[in-house]
Amino acid sequence: MAASTSIVQPPKDTAKALTIALSARALFDLEKEDKLFHENGLDAYIKFMMENEEKVLEKGPAFEFVKSALAVNDAIRKLDQKDDELFDIVIVSRNHAQAGVRLIRSINHYDGIFLERMSLTGGTDPTKYLGAWNTDLFLSPDEHDVRKAIEAGFPAAVVYQNNGEDLPNDQLRIAFDGDSVLFSDEAEQVYQKEGLAGFVQNETQNAAIPLGEGPIKKFASRIAEIQKKFHKKGEPRDQCPIRTYLVTARSGASTGERAIKTLRDWGLEIDESHFKSGASKANMLKAIRPHLFLDDSESHVDKALKANIPAAKVPYGINSEKVKPKGGKKRGSDLVEGEGAKSTLKGHFPVKKAK
Ligand SMILES: [Mg+2]
Repeated sequence: MAASTSIVQPPKDTAKALTIALSARALFDLEKEDKLFHENGLDAYIKFMMENEEKVLEKGPAFEFVKSALAVNDAIRKLDQKDDELFDIVIVSRNHAQAGVRLIRSINHYDGIFLERMSLTGGTDPTKYLGAWNTDLFLSPDEHDVRKAIEAGFPAAVVYQNNGEDLPNDQLRIAFDGDSVLFSDEAEQVYQKEGLAGFVQNETQNAAIPLGEGPIKKFASRIAEIQKKFHKKGEPRDQCPIRTYLVTARSGASTGERAIKTLRDWGLEIDESHFKSGASKANMLKAIRPHLFLDDSESHVDKALKANIPAAKVPYGINSEKVKPKGGKKRGSDLVEGEGAKSTLKGHFPVKKAK
């Protein structure tokens, strides 16, 4: 099992690393500072950050996920001291370098959080550097940036402030939704257009035809590759330092087969599958206690956050189209981006442009 305190240096050769890029606001709670930036401008923000360099930032939405991922590095290096296929955490942020001292001091304050790589872009679009970092997952509270990342082919999700409770410290747990997350949204489109009966008929008829790849599939495959290191050692799978879960609204008997066959076709092993058949996912997630739950549905993400689950939204597919901002607020503006007129997530996190 992974310890959480020792320090494994980030790999020099990043080609093999599983790179998680995240904004500063995903790692730390910078909401008060963000408000100051929006109300008083960049100079006031930098002044505040410099005056408060001694003041450690509180944990942000993805803090526990990052900490648990880094703990897996300890376990990987116990298997092989030279293995460079490690989690590599990179801050890719609109932040200004002059505000970076507070970030660095906060990183150094917390046990188990060790990251050396960062791009502070001084207010410019941080997503243009995701390719340079070989990013395998991008997390940010800024929906506009996340959409850009997904459109550029990077697995990405919007994170929200949460009260993640009782998360395990000896195993990284990641829960995935199926449709529009691991899978494409092709079946979801049928459901939206033809209703449940049409969806069930379509999925039954096409049970043998694998679904297309969704925006998070590549990340899930990288996670599975790291799990295989431990599986090869013959350890019981429930003792693996990483455990994965499919938590889908699909039904087992009627529409589950296509999901299972798709994963089989890809050779993607997910440890547990939970077919909720439309029932709330929140109770299941409370039992699983994942460090990250990825879903495209605002409703599922909202309910999970209310149940103190660190949930993140994947703004992709037909469900995501429905909550795009209505006319007037074009994407790419400095205004509130991507949260959409019907968003139920406003209460969890003010989705504003990051610095
Ligand atoms: Mg879905």
